Amino acid sequence: MGLIVQKFGGTSVANVECVERVAGIIADTYHAGNNVVAVVSAQGDTTDDLIRKAKEINPKASKREMDVLLSTGEQISMSLLAMAIQKMDLPVVSLTGAQAGMRTDIAYGNAKIERIDTERLESEIGKGKIVIIAGFQGTNRYDDITTLGRGGSDTTAVAFAAALNADLCQIYTDVDGVYTADPRIVPDAKKLDEISYDEMLELASLGAQVLHNRSVEMAKRYSVDMEVLSSFQKAQGTKVKEVVGVEKMLIRGVARDNHVARIAIIGLPDRPGTVFQIFSRLGKAKINVDVILQSIGRDGTKDVSFTVDESNTENAVSILKEILPSLGGRSITHDSNIAKVSIVGAGMATNPGVAAKMFEALYQAGINIQMISTSEIKVSVLIERDEADRAVKIVHNAFHFGS
Ligand code: ADP
Ligand code: ASP
Ligand code: MG
Repeated sequence: MGLIVQKFGGTSVANVECVERVAGIIADTYHAGNNVVAVVSAQGDTTDDLIRKAKEINPKASKREMDVLLSTGEQISMSLLAMAIQKMDLPVVSLTGAQAGMRTDIAYGNAKIERIDTERLESEIGKGKIVIIAGFQGTNRYDDITTLGRGGSDTTAVAFAAALNADLCQIYTDVDGVYTADPRIVPDAKKLDEISYDEMLELASLGAQVLHNRSVEMAKRYSVDMEVLSSFQKAQGTKVKEVVGVEKMLIRGVARDNHVARIAIIGLPDRPGTVFQIFSRLGKAKINVDVILQSIGRDGTKDVSFTVDESNTENAVSILKEILPSLGGRSITHDSNIAKVSIVGAGMATNPGVAAKMFEALYQAGINIQMISTSEIKVSVLIERDEADRAVKIVHNAFHFGS
Protein backbone atom coordinates (compact mmCIF):
# COMPACT_ATOMS: atom_id res chain seq x y z
CA MET A 1 0.00 0.00 0.00
CA GLY A 2 1.37 3.38 -0.98
CA LEU A 3 0.46 7.04 -0.98
CA ILE A 4 -0.19 8.52 -4.40
CA VAL A 5 -0.77 12.18 -5.19
CA GLN A 6 -2.82 12.66 -8.37
CA LYS A 7 -3.34 16.05 -10.00
CA PHE A 8 -6.14 16.70 -12.48
CA GLY A 9 -5.96 19.75 -14.74
CA GLY A 10 -8.75 22.00 -15.95
CA THR A 11 -9.72 20.02 -19.06
CA SER A 12 -9.73 16.81 -17.01
CA VAL A 13 -12.51 18.14 -14.74
CA ALA A 14 -14.25 20.39 -17.28
CA ASN A 15 -17.77 18.89 -17.04
CA VAL A 16 -19.87 16.24 -15.29
CA GLU A 17 -18.63 13.43 -17.50
CA CYS A 18 -15.00 14.43 -16.90
CA VAL A 19 -15.46 14.76 -13.14
CA GLU A 20 -16.98 11.28 -13.07
CA ARG A 21 -14.12 9.89 -15.14
CA VAL A 22 -11.62 11.39 -12.71
CA ALA A 23 -13.57 10.01 -9.74
CA GLY A 24 -13.20 6.59 -11.42
CA ILE A 25 -9.40 6.97 -11.71
CA ILE A 26 -9.18 7.91 -8.04
CA ALA A 27 -11.47 5.04 -7.00
CA ASP A 28 -9.37 2.52 -8.99
CA THR A 29 -6.19 3.77 -7.29
CA TYR A 30 -7.89 3.57 -3.88
CA HIS A 31 -9.26 0.07 -4.53
CA ALA A 32 -5.75 -1.03 -5.51
CA GLY A 33 -4.87 -0.44 -1.86
CA ASN A 34 -3.41 3.06 -1.99
CA ASN A 35 -4.06 6.23 -0.06
CA VAL A 36 -4.96 8.96 -2.52
CA VAL A 37 -4.51 12.70 -2.27
CA ALA A 38 -5.95 14.41 -5.35
CA VAL A 39 -5.21 18.00 -6.35
CA VAL A 40 -7.60 19.71 -8.75
CA SER A 41 -7.54 22.73 -11.04
CA ALA A 42 -10.48 24.96 -11.90
CA GLN A 43 -12.86 23.53 -14.49
CA GLY A 44 -12.09 24.28 -18.15
CA ASP A 45 -11.64 27.99 -18.76
CA THR A 46 -12.95 29.05 -15.34
CA THR A 47 -9.79 30.92 -14.32
CA ASP A 48 -9.76 32.91 -17.59
CA ASP A 49 -13.49 33.63 -17.21
CA LEU A 50 -12.97 34.91 -13.67
CA ILE A 51 -10.13 37.19 -14.83
CA ARG A 52 -12.41 38.55 -17.56
CA LYS A 53 -15.19 39.20 -15.07
CA ALA A 54 -12.84 41.04 -12.74
CA LYS A 55 -11.55 43.22 -15.59
CA GLU A 56 -15.11 44.23 -16.48
CA ILE A 57 -15.56 45.60 -12.98
CA ASN A 58 -12.12 46.99 -12.29
CA PRO A 59 -9.10 46.47 -14.56
CA LYS A 60 -6.88 47.72 -11.74
CA ALA A 61 -8.31 45.48 -9.00
CA SER A 62 -5.78 44.66 -6.29
CA LYS A 63 -3.85 41.42 -6.53
CA ARG A 64 -5.26 40.45 -3.14
CA GLU A 65 -8.86 40.60 -4.38
CA MET A 66 -7.87 38.82 -7.60
CA ASP A 67 -6.56 35.92 -5.52
CA VAL A 68 -9.77 35.78 -3.47
CA LEU A 69 -11.68 35.52 -6.74
CA LEU A 70 -9.41 33.10 -8.63
CA SER A 71 -9.16 30.65 -5.74
CA THR A 72 -12.91 29.99 -6.04
CA GLY A 73 -12.43 28.12 -9.35
CA GLU A 74 -10.50 25.30 -7.69
CA GLN A 75 -13.03 25.15 -4.83
CA ILE A 76 -15.83 24.39 -7.27
CA SER A 77 -13.82 21.48 -8.73
CA MET A 78 -12.79 20.03 -5.39
CA SER A 79 -16.31 19.88 -4.00
CA LEU A 80 -17.85 18.49 -7.21
CA LEU A 81 -15.17 15.80 -7.37
CA ALA A 82 -15.73 14.93 -3.70
CA MET A 83 -19.48 14.63 -4.41
CA ALA A 84 -18.80 12.27 -7.32
CA ILE A 85 -16.66 10.10 -5.04
CA GLN A 86 -19.33 10.17 -2.30
CA LYS A 87 -21.73 8.77 -4.88
CA MET A 88 -19.43 5.75 -5.14
CA ASP A 89 -19.75 5.24 -1.38
CA LEU A 90 -16.09 5.94 -0.75
CA PRO A 91 -14.82 8.01 2.20
CA VAL A 92 -13.73 11.43 0.94
CA VAL A 93 -13.16 14.98 2.12
CA SER A 94 -12.31 18.12 0.14
CA LEU A 95 -9.99 20.77 1.56
CA THR A 96 -9.11 24.28 0.43
CA GLY A 97 -5.43 25.20 0.26
CA ALA A 98 -5.71 26.82 3.69
CA GLN A 99 -7.42 23.79 5.25
CA ALA A 100 -4.77 21.52 3.74
CA GLY A 101 -2.03 23.59 5.38
CA MET A 102 -0.53 25.26 2.31
CA ARG A 103 1.36 28.33 3.60
CA THR A 104 2.92 30.79 1.17
CA ASP A 105 4.78 34.08 1.14
CA ILE A 106 2.85 37.31 0.65
CA ALA A 107 3.32 37.69 -3.13
CA TYR A 108 -0.33 37.73 -4.22
CA GLY A 109 -0.78 36.34 -7.72
CA ASN A 110 2.56 34.56 -7.78
CA ALA A 111 3.11 33.28 -4.26
CA LYS A 112 5.91 30.90 -3.34
CA ILE A 113 5.28 27.99 -1.00
CA GLU A 114 6.92 28.47 2.40
CA ARG A 115 5.74 25.36 4.21
CA ILE A 116 2.94 22.83 4.47
CA ASP A 117 1.35 22.03 7.83
CA THR A 118 0.29 18.44 7.31
CA GLU A 119 -1.56 17.63 10.59
CA ARG A 120 -5.08 17.95 9.20
CA LEU A 121 -4.16 16.09 6.04
CA GLU A 122 -2.45 13.29 7.88
CA SER A 123 -5.39 12.90 10.20
CA GLU A 124 -7.82 12.63 7.27
CA ILE A 125 -5.56 10.13 5.49
CA GLY A 126 -5.21 8.26 8.78
CA LYS A 127 -9.02 7.90 8.87
CA GLY A 128 -8.79 6.17 5.50
CA LYS A 129 -10.23 9.09 3.55
CA ILE A 130 -9.50 10.12 0.01
CA VAL A 131 -8.49 13.78 0.25
CA ILE A 132 -9.26 16.26 -2.54
CA ILE A 133 -7.27 19.51 -2.37
CA ALA A 134 -7.84 22.74 -4.25
CA GLY A 135 -4.73 23.39 -6.33
CA PHE A 136 -3.05 26.74 -7.05
CA GLN A 137 -3.87 28.33 -3.67
CA GLY A 138 -2.61 28.81 -0.14
CA THR A 139 -2.69 31.40 2.60
CA ASN A 140 -0.03 33.85 3.70
CA ARG A 141 1.03 35.19 7.09
CA TYR A 142 -1.90 37.63 7.13
CA ASP A 143 -4.27 34.67 6.66
CA ASP A 144 -5.09 36.02 3.20
CA ILE A 145 -5.67 33.74 0.24
CA THR A 146 -2.80 33.66 -2.26
CA THR A 147 -2.39 31.94 -5.63
CA LEU A 148 0.76 30.37 -7.04
CA GLY A 149 0.75 31.79 -10.60
CA ARG A 150 -0.93 30.43 -13.73
CA GLY A 151 -0.56 26.68 -14.07
CA GLY A 152 0.33 26.47 -10.37
CA SER A 153 -1.76 23.39 -9.50
CA ASP A 154 1.09 21.18 -10.74
CA THR A 155 3.28 22.79 -8.10
CA THR A 156 0.62 22.25 -5.44
CA ALA A 157 0.60 18.54 -6.27
CA VAL A 158 4.37 18.12 -6.15
CA ALA A 159 4.58 20.13 -2.92
CA PHE A 160 2.07 17.84 -1.21
CA ALA A 161 3.82 14.77 -2.62
CA ALA A 162 7.08 16.03 -1.10
CA ALA A 163 5.52 17.03 2.23
CA LEU A 164 3.74 13.68 2.60
CA ASN A 165 6.68 11.68 1.28
CA ALA A 166 4.36 10.16 -1.32
CA ASP A 167 5.44 7.24 -3.44
CA LEU A 168 4.41 8.90 -6.70
CA CYS A 169 3.01 12.17 -8.05
CA GLN A 170 0.85 11.66 -11.13
CA ILE A 171 -0.04 14.67 -13.26
CA TYR A 172 -3.17 13.78 -15.24
CA THR A 173 -3.82 16.11 -18.16
CA ASP A 174 -5.29 16.26 -21.67
CA VAL A 175 -2.24 14.72 -23.40
CA ASP A 176 -0.84 11.30 -22.56
CA GLY A 177 2.65 12.47 -21.73
CA VAL A 178 5.45 14.87 -22.51
CA TYR A 179 6.12 15.07 -26.23
CA THR A 180 9.12 16.22 -28.25
CA ALA A 181 7.06 19.34 -29.05
CA ASP A 182 3.57 20.60 -28.26
CA PRO A 183 1.42 18.05 -30.14
CA ARG A 184 -1.03 20.84 -30.94
CA ILE A 185 1.68 22.52 -33.04
CA VAL A 186 3.52 19.42 -34.27
CA PRO A 187 1.04 16.57 -34.76
CA ASP A 188 3.78 14.01 -35.38
CA ALA A 189 5.70 14.88 -32.20
CA LYS A 190 6.89 11.80 -30.34
CA LYS A 191 5.91 10.83 -26.81
CA LEU A 192 8.85 10.47 -24.44
CA ASP A 193 8.87 7.47 -22.10
CA GLU A 194 11.03 9.41 -19.67
CA ILE A 195 12.76 12.74 -19.26
CA SER A 196 15.23 14.06 -16.68
CA TYR A 197 14.28 16.79 -14.21
CA ASP A 198 16.86 19.12 -15.78
CA GLU A 199 15.56 18.69 -19.31
CA MET A 200 11.93 18.95 -18.20
CA LEU A 201 12.73 22.06 -16.20
CA GLU A 202 14.25 23.71 -19.27
CA LEU A 203 11.33 22.69 -21.49
CA ALA A 204 8.77 23.96 -18.96
CA SER A 205 10.67 27.21 -18.38
CA LEU A 206 10.98 27.76 -22.12
CA GLY A 207 7.25 27.53 -22.70
CA ALA A 208 6.15 23.87 -22.70
CA GLN A 209 2.93 24.41 -20.78
CA VAL A 210 2.46 20.75 -19.92
CA LEU A 211 4.13 21.24 -16.52
CA HIS A 212 4.51 24.34 -14.34
CA ASN A 213 8.25 24.94 -14.18
CA ARG A 214 8.23 25.36 -10.40
CA SER A 215 6.66 21.91 -10.04
CA VAL A 216 9.66 20.37 -11.80
CA GLU A 217 12.09 22.42 -9.73
CA MET A 218 10.43 21.16 -6.58
CA ALA A 219 10.27 17.56 -7.80
CA LYS A 220 14.01 17.68 -8.43
CA ARG A 221 14.79 19.26 -5.07
CA TYR A 222 12.78 16.66 -3.11
CA SER A 223 13.35 13.72 -5.50
CA VAL A 224 9.64 13.29 -6.16
CA ASP A 225 8.92 10.65 -8.80
CA MET A 226 6.60 12.28 -11.28
CA GLU A 227 4.56 10.93 -14.14
CA VAL A 228 2.57 12.85 -16.78
CA LEU A 229 -0.39 10.96 -18.19
CA SER A 230 -3.84 11.33 -19.71
CA SER A 231 -7.07 11.38 -17.73
CA PHE A 232 -8.95 10.55 -20.93
CA GLN A 233 -7.27 7.36 -22.05
CA LYS A 234 -5.37 4.58 -20.34
CA ALA A 235 -1.85 4.69 -21.69
CA GLN A 236 1.62 4.75 -20.28
CA GLY A 237 2.72 8.32 -19.68
CA THR A 238 6.08 10.03 -19.32
CA LYS A 239 8.21 9.55 -16.23
CA VAL A 240 10.11 12.59 -14.97
CA LYS A 241 13.07 11.62 -12.84
CA GLU A 242 16.71 12.29 -11.99
CA VAL A 243 18.46 9.99 -14.44
CA VAL A 244 17.08 8.68 -17.68
CA GLY A 245 18.32 5.95 -19.98
CA VAL A 246 20.91 6.76 -22.59
CA GLU A 247 19.14 7.28 -25.88
CA LYS A 248 20.44 8.24 -29.27
CA MET A 249 18.33 11.37 -29.14
CA LEU A 250 20.49 14.49 -29.06
CA ILE A 251 17.57 16.73 -28.39
CA ARG A 252 14.73 15.91 -26.04
CA GLY A 253 12.29 18.51 -27.29
CA VAL A 254 11.40 21.83 -28.88
CA ALA A 255 9.56 24.53 -26.92
CA ARG A 256 7.98 27.82 -27.83
CA ASP A 257 7.19 30.88 -25.73
CA ASN A 258 4.93 33.48 -27.28
CA HIS A 259 4.89 35.80 -24.28
CA VAL A 260 8.18 37.51 -24.92
CA ALA A 261 8.91 41.20 -25.48
CA ARG A 262 12.21 42.81 -26.42
CA ILE A 263 13.32 46.14 -25.04
CA ALA A 264 16.30 48.10 -26.35
CA ILE A 265 18.15 51.09 -24.94
CA ILE A 266 19.93 52.92 -27.68
CA GLY A 267 22.98 55.19 -27.52
CA LEU A 268 24.23 54.44 -24.03
CA PRO A 269 27.65 55.77 -23.01
CA ASP A 270 30.23 53.00 -23.39
CA ARG A 271 31.55 53.06 -19.82
CA PRO A 272 31.57 50.73 -16.77
CA GLY A 273 28.46 50.50 -14.60
CA THR A 274 25.81 51.21 -17.23
CA VAL A 275 24.34 47.71 -17.47
CA PHE A 276 24.64 47.32 -13.71
CA GLN A 277 22.46 50.40 -13.24
CA ILE A 278 19.86 49.12 -15.69
CA PHE A 279 19.51 45.59 -14.43
CA SER A 280 19.76 46.32 -10.72
CA ARG A 281 16.89 48.80 -11.13
CA LEU A 282 14.80 46.19 -12.98
CA GLY A 283 15.75 43.56 -10.40
CA LYS A 284 14.50 45.77 -7.58
CA ALA A 285 11.16 45.99 -9.38
CA LYS A 286 11.16 42.15 -9.52
CA ILE A 287 11.25 42.14 -13.32
CA ASN A 288 12.91 39.00 -14.63
CA VAL A 289 15.21 39.63 -17.53
CA ASP A 290 16.00 36.82 -19.93
CA VAL A 291 18.24 37.12 -23.01
CA ILE A 292 20.62 40.12 -22.88
CA LEU A 293 22.57 41.45 -25.84
CA GLN A 294 25.05 44.31 -25.76
CA SER A 295 26.52 45.75 -28.93
CA ILE A 296 30.21 46.52 -29.28
CA GLY A 297 30.94 50.09 -28.26
CA ARG A 298 31.46 52.40 -31.23
CA ASP A 299 32.12 56.14 -31.14
CA GLY A 300 31.76 56.02 -27.35
CA THR A 301 28.22 54.58 -27.37
CA LYS A 302 26.61 51.15 -27.21
CA ASP A 303 23.10 49.64 -27.36
CA VAL A 304 21.70 47.14 -24.87
CA SER A 305 18.70 44.98 -25.66
CA PHE A 306 17.03 42.29 -23.56
CA THR A 307 13.83 40.31 -23.28
CA VAL A 308 11.19 40.22 -20.55
CA ASP A 309 7.90 38.45 -20.12
CA GLU A 310 5.39 40.41 -22.18
CA SER A 311 3.34 41.22 -19.07
CA ASN A 312 6.29 43.21 -17.69
CA THR A 313 6.87 45.39 -20.76
CA GLU A 314 4.96 48.47 -19.62
CA ASN A 315 6.51 48.44 -16.17
CA ALA A 316 10.05 47.91 -17.49
CA VAL A 317 9.75 50.65 -20.11
CA SER A 318 8.44 53.17 -17.60
CA ILE A 319 11.32 52.41 -15.19
CA LEU A 320 13.85 52.77 -18.00
CA LYS A 321 12.33 56.07 -19.13
CA GLU A 322 12.75 57.31 -15.60
CA ILE A 323 16.45 56.46 -15.45
CA LEU A 324 17.30 57.24 -19.10
CA PRO A 325 18.54 60.79 -18.37
CA SER A 326 20.86 59.62 -15.59
CA LEU A 327 22.08 56.75 -17.79
CA GLY A 328 22.82 59.21 -20.56
CA GLY A 329 21.11 57.06 -23.20
CA ARG A 330 19.37 58.31 -26.33
CA SER A 331 16.12 56.36 -26.60
CA ILE A 332 14.15 53.27 -25.64
CA THR A 333 12.29 50.99 -28.04
CA HIS A 334 10.19 47.90 -27.42
CA ASP A 335 8.73 45.15 -29.56
CA SER A 336 6.12 42.63 -28.48
CA ASN A 337 5.96 40.76 -31.74
CA ILE A 338 8.60 38.31 -30.53
CA ALA A 339 8.66 34.60 -29.72
CA LYS A 340 11.33 32.37 -28.32
CA VAL A 341 11.87 28.94 -29.85
CA SER A 342 14.22 26.58 -28.05
CA ILE A 343 15.71 23.12 -28.33
CA VAL A 344 16.52 21.22 -25.15
CA GLY A 345 18.59 18.12 -24.54
CA ALA A 346 21.40 16.97 -22.27
CA GLY A 347 22.96 15.26 -25.34
CA MET A 348 23.94 18.56 -26.93
CA ALA A 349 26.59 19.29 -24.30
CA THR A 350 28.84 16.62 -25.82
CA ASN A 351 27.77 16.93 -29.45
CA PRO A 352 28.97 19.95 -31.37
CA GLY A 353 26.93 21.17 -34.32
CA VAL A 354 23.51 20.97 -32.71
CA ALA A 355 23.03 24.75 -32.68
CA ALA A 356 24.26 24.96 -36.28
CA LYS A 357 21.66 22.40 -37.32
CA MET A 358 18.90 24.51 -35.77
CA PHE A 359 20.22 27.70 -37.41
CA GLU A 360 20.46 25.96 -40.77
CA ALA A 361 16.86 24.77 -40.60
CA LEU A 362 15.68 28.31 -39.80
CA TYR A 363 17.85 29.78 -42.55
CA GLN A 364 16.45 27.39 -45.14
CA ALA A 365 12.95 28.41 -44.10
CA GLY A 366 13.85 32.08 -44.43
CA ILE A 367 13.30 32.81 -40.75
CA ASN A 368 15.46 35.58 -39.35
CA ILE A 369 17.07 35.11 -35.93
CA GLN A 370 17.07 38.27 -33.83
CA MET A 371 18.82 37.07 -30.68
CA ILE A 372 20.40 33.82 -29.49
CA SER A 373 20.99 32.41 -26.05
CA THR A 374 22.59 29.08 -25.14
CA SER A 375 23.36 26.94 -22.12
CA GLU A 376 24.82 23.46 -21.76
CA ILE A 377 21.47 21.86 -22.49
CA LYS A 378 19.53 24.37 -24.58
CA VAL A 379 19.67 26.76 -27.50
CA SER A 380 17.05 29.51 -27.76
CA VAL A 381 16.43 31.89 -30.63
CA LEU A 382 14.22 34.96 -30.72
CA ILE A 383 12.23 35.38 -33.88
CA GLU A 384 9.13 37.16 -35.16
CA ARG A 385 6.06 35.84 -33.36
CA ASP A 386 4.07 35.14 -36.52
CA GLU A 387 6.78 32.69 -37.56
CA ALA A 388 6.91 30.82 -34.25
CA ASP A 389 4.73 27.81 -35.00
CA ARG A 390 6.32 27.32 -38.41
CA ALA A 391 9.75 27.53 -36.77
CA VAL A 392 8.82 24.88 -34.18
CA LYS A 393 7.70 22.51 -36.95
CA ILE A 394 10.81 23.13 -39.06
CA VAL A 395 13.25 22.74 -36.18
CA HIS A 396 11.44 19.63 -34.93
CA ASN A 397 11.62 18.16 -38.41
CA ALA A 398 15.35 18.88 -38.69
CA PHE A 399 16.07 16.67 -35.69
CA HIS A 400 14.10 13.67 -37.05
CA PHE A 401 12.10 13.08 -33.89
CA GLY A 402 9.32 11.45 -35.80
CA SER A 403 11.38 8.56 -37.14
P1 ADP B 1 -3.78 21.12 -17.51
O1 ADP B 1 -5.01 21.93 -17.60
O2 ADP B 1 -4.04 19.65 -17.37
O3 ADP B 1 -2.81 21.63 -16.49
P2 ADP B 1 -2.25 22.37 -19.62
O4 ADP B 1 -3.08 22.98 -20.69
O5 ADP B 1 -1.65 23.29 -18.61
O6 ADP B 1 -3.09 21.20 -18.94
O7 ADP B 1 -1.05 21.52 -20.27
C1 ADP B 1 -1.32 20.54 -21.25
C2 ADP B 1 -1.03 21.11 -22.64
O8 ADP B 1 0.35 21.40 -22.76
C3 ADP B 1 -1.29 20.15 -23.77
O9 ADP B 1 -2.63 20.16 -24.17
C4 ADP B 1 -0.33 20.62 -24.86
O10 ADP B 1 -0.97 21.36 -25.86
C5 ADP B 1 0.65 21.54 -24.12
N1 ADP B 1 2.05 21.22 -24.36
C6 ADP B 1 3.02 22.12 -24.65
N2 ADP B 1 4.19 21.53 -24.84
C7 ADP B 1 4.00 20.19 -24.67
C8 ADP B 1 4.85 19.05 -24.73
N3 ADP B 1 6.16 19.16 -25.00
N4 ADP B 1 4.31 17.83 -24.47
C9 ADP B 1 3.00 17.70 -24.19
N5 ADP B 1 2.14 18.75 -24.12
C10 ADP B 1 2.63 19.99 -24.34
N1 ASP C 1 -6.55 27.27 -12.53
C1 ASP C 1 -5.22 27.82 -12.56
C2 ASP C 1 -4.88 28.32 -13.95
O1 ASP C 1 -5.70 28.20 -14.86
C3 ASP C 1 -4.19 26.87 -12.02
C4 ASP C 1 -3.97 25.62 -12.84
O2 ASP C 1 -4.80 25.23 -13.66
O3 ASP C 1 -2.93 24.98 -12.64
O4 ASP C 1 -3.82 28.85 -14.15
MG1 MG D 1 -1.38 23.18 -16.54
